[in-house]
Amino acid sequence: MKQTKILLNESEMPREWYNVQADMKIPLAPPLHPATLQPMKPEEMAALFPMALLEQEMTNKRWITIPDEVLDVYALFRPSPLYRAHRLEKALGTPAKIYYKYEGVSPSGSHKTNTAIPQAYYNMREGIKRIATETGAGQWGSAMSYACSLYGIDLNVYMVKVSYEQKPYRRLLMETYGAHVFPSPSSRTESGRKILADDPNSSGSLGIAISEAVEEALINPDVHYALGSVLNHVLLHQTIIGLEAKKQLEKVGDYPDVVLGCVGGGSNFGGIALPFVSDKLGGKNIRLVGVEPSACPTITKGVYDYDYGDTAKMAPVVKMYTLGHDFVPPGIHAGGLRYHGMSPIISSLVHEGVMSAVAYKQNPVFDAAVLFANTEGILPAPESAHAIKGAIEEAIQAKEEGKEKTILFCLSGHGNFDLSSYDQYHQGKLEDFEYSEELVKKSLEKLPKI
Ligand SMILES: *Cc1c(COP(=O)(O)O)cnc(C)c1O
Repeated sequence: MKQTKILLNESEMPREWYNVQADMKIPLAPPLHPATLQPMKPEEMAALFPMALLEQEMTNKRWITIPDEVLDVYALFRPSPLYRAHRLEKALGTPAKIYYKYEGVSPSGSHKTNTAIPQAYYNMREGIKRIATETGAGQWGSAMSYACSLYGIDLNVYMVKVSYEQKPYRRLLMETYGAHVFPSPSSRTESGRKILADDPNSSGSLGIAISEAVEEALINPDVHYALGSVLNHVLLHQTIIGLEAKKQLEKVGDYPDVVLGCVGGGSNFGGIALPFVSDKLGGKNIRLVGVEPSACPTITKGVYDYDYGDTAKMAPVVKMYTLGHDFVPPGIHAGGLRYHGMSPIISSLVHEGVMSAVAYKQNPVFDAAVLFANTEGILPAPESAHAIKGAIEEAIQAKEEGKEKTILFCLSGHGNFDLSSYDQYHQGKLEDFEYSEELVKKSLEKLPKI
């Protein structure tokens, strides 16, 4: 019988996260204070994050021990399965082998839980009783709601309004875990009120929602902030995905030629791909490819420069690929891929030529999602479907070239809460947006002058 699932025992779960900063040839540019544009001091960051996470953000130590308490919760859903996509391969008639690492087995249905749990844990250890955060499509908010409920932390979630309206079940899930959810822009914060005054019908953006959550944390000394992607410590926590996948592939004597993940802020792609970076730097022939939506093509059409992390210029300024901090992408159905910026780690590695990116429009991405659902059975999140599309293109290329190839991708989450998007797709109502060069150009004029 051919093998479909490659599983690890709980005892084989990695005990350490991998910190790629230890292996990066060029150190990351320091984050800057949004008001002074001087390097952020640790005490300034401490208003937002617990010290343990700030240390992880900046350390060059290669391996970071995962606390036992975190491993204990991880064991609810980790190690996650690695699948060989036999049925998808057959449907494509490809000689390529396709493997996918499925992160939809976590309680919130996506990889976000991998970082939500340690983030809530370290905040609890520092005595924090309340956290403010934002959420795009609702996956991060759901993951954080669950994690905070485990550690007795009160959570306020600013949810991008377009998703709040498109995805009511995500809000209900967060509320079931005990969180308070507000559509963003909201009238609860100065930043939200400003946006609403300019545009009462604003559909919101991650940049705006981040401003609202950061503002709440800065005003209230007992409130911390948490971010579900982009930051170094988030990517660090997500490396458990790639570390497990490597072990699983070893079990079947395989190694990937290409590793793919969808990219919003870069955390699931980083999670699966970063553990392969040292191999690549050591001379291995392997490609690491992020897949983004054409409507929000941060890496493929953005610039690599310092920019504000949020719309109201309250979050740290970081060097990254960006479309401009006030760029509001169209309301595409992969809400988790609508961020204007990109993880500084991913950005730097792309800039160095270690990683690369491609972009696809949403209708072809949903075509890929439906083919995947009909072969492999799992209904993918619209975000994850970008990685599927990327993997299918690789497999078709292998077929055309008559070459064998091993493809590994991260299936970052299931789409069981995203059925309204599938409804739109089935009705032929999904629009294929091309990013607006004009709008991006205007946004890029507002980059900070460093
Ligand atoms: C949030 C999310 C993404 C995008 O975020 P990254 O940080 O780029 O991984 C992708 N897929 C799913 C299922 C998500 O929830």
